[in-house]
Amino acid sequence: MAILEVNNLEKIYTTRFGGSSVQALRNVSFSVEAGEYVAIMGESGSGKTTLLNILVGLLPPTEGTVSLMGEDISKLDDAKRSGLRNAHVGYVPQSAGLIPTLTILDNVRLPWYLAGKRDAEPEGRAEALLEEVGLKDLGSQFPSALSGGELRRVAIARALMCSPDVIVADEPTSNLDPASARGVVDIFRAIAQKGGAVLMVTHDTFSLDASTRLYDMAEGRLEERP
Ligand code: ADP
Ligand code: MG
Repeated sequence: MAILEVNNLEKIYTTRFGGSSVQALRNVSFSVEAGEYVAIMGESGSGKTTLLNILVGLLPPTEGTVSLMGEDISKLDDAKRSGLRNAHVGYVPQSAGLIPTLTILDNVRLPWYLAGKRDAEPEGRAEALLEEVGLKDLGSQFPSALSGGELRRVAIARALMCSPDVIVADEPTSNLDPASARGVVDIFRAIAQKGGAVLMVTHDTFSLDASTRLYDMAEGRLEERP
């Protein structure tokens, strides 16, 4: 069973005024299995963020289906759909989106509590994740004290907090210096090598060596690069 599978997705945005519309996705089909590191490249405006938002269930497609862990998410109500997402997907949005008034460690822990888990978090898990992304000593700092590259790595640690089956990341290396960007790619590669799955959207060509499969997106069409 694929972790994520989309079939024949179409997305048309209808603008509120004037009735002009934008076709953001055209007949997009692909899937992500455990152990894969799938990269999608494409120019700005080609539909990448639209695709990610649809496949994590945050945006409904105009046509087509999305299956997460074998379940067709369009058949679920909102609560069940978010529950499935929280249980299986770690989303790294384009901006780190950390809470400025929480420490780095508490930002990493937050999804555990947002997922409605009553049990205390597994002892030391947030600390271990911070260490994994190379930020062991920054747990007590606040987001304002960190660099862009560090914040991106915190967002990755946060996405891993609930042990997702798949990490979905929207341009996680953009605006990072080359060393930080490589650090992010190394983390993703390690996740896939340990049997996890990663789907990453990127502009950077260097991050592609690490991927196990590569797609190009242009004007809403997705094509696998041979
Ligand atoms: P990318 O992430 O590759 O830059 P997007 O998925 O953000 O591309 O956008 C794809 C196309 O859809 C663009 O033409 C964009 O202007 C349009 N678009 C994105 N979101 C909306 C929206 N909420 N309403 C109308 N058009 C949108
Ligand atoms: Mg985008």
